[in-house]
Amino acid sequence: MNYKDNILKRLKTINEQLSSCIIEKISESERTDICLMCGKKKNTIKMRRQNTQYTDQNSNYIESCKECFDEKEEYWAGMWNDYYSDRL
Ligand SMILES: [Zn+2]
Repeated sequence: MNYKDNILKRLKTINEQLSSCIIEKISESERTDICLMCGKKKNTIKMRRQNTQYTDQNSNYIESCKECFDEKEEYWAGMWNDYYSDRL
């Protein structure tokens, strides 16, 4: 194998590695961009502590977009209001 072929072969390998790396990155970002609650593509998705008192700590966290989180928070705020007004 001559020098030129060797370079081409190495370039091809690098190119393959790069594109598989890019494909991985794309599928990773697509996965995290989809809100599990509304199914829409959002850029505000993260794990947030919600207003619940589950003994299982993991259940107190939801992964969703900001809008779904706000909606959930409103829902829980309503639930707690009912809970406290029942006890008064
Ligand atoms: Zn959402």
